[in-house]
Amino acid sequence: MALAPIFRKIFLVDLIKGLSLTFRYQDPKEIYTEQYPLERPQVAERYRGLPRLKMNPETGKTLCIACDLCAKACPENLITVESERDPVTKRKVLTKYTFDLSRCMFCGLCEESCSTDAIELTPDYEVAQYSRDGMVLDQKRLEEGPDRKEYKR
Ligand code: SF4
Ligand code: SF4
Repeated sequence: MALAPIFRKIFLVDLIKGLSLTFRYQDPKEIYTEQYPLERPQVAERYRGLPRLKMNPETGKTLCIACDLCAKACPENLITVESERDPVTKRKVLTKYTFDLSRCMFCGLCEESCSTDAIELTPDYEVAQYSRDGMVLDQKRLEEGPDRKEYKR
């Protein structure tokens, strides 16, 4: 047997090298574990997460014109859009909008198909719910967005 491996074994060289590497990273400034949920991580700019239905900031009314394009574009058929015709303006008025988040694969086809930019997949990634029913978002929840909890020590 060559002398070098025996020397390494007797003097525990590999063990000492391993421990020195471990202890080098004990310095708090070397720690990069994210302290979630106290600190929320930054996601990529184009991350697609929780959907939102946007409102017109001036009128406070929905931007959705109930055209149904998002529902037709969705490969999962998880969006339902219901509407009725306004007898005066003859325009469609949105009466019901639901989005089943549990089946969404966040492909973004719905927001791409929307001509008024009413539906948007936001960078919000906290989508967990306690029930499957809770994953079906109605118009009100889609417009209000999530009730974000701030955590403190
Ligand atoms: S992101 Fe894709 S799967 Fe999800 S609702 Fe939009 S089109 Fe459907
Ligand atoms: S969200 Fe956009 S694509 Fe979907 S029904 Fe409303 S206006 Fe049409």
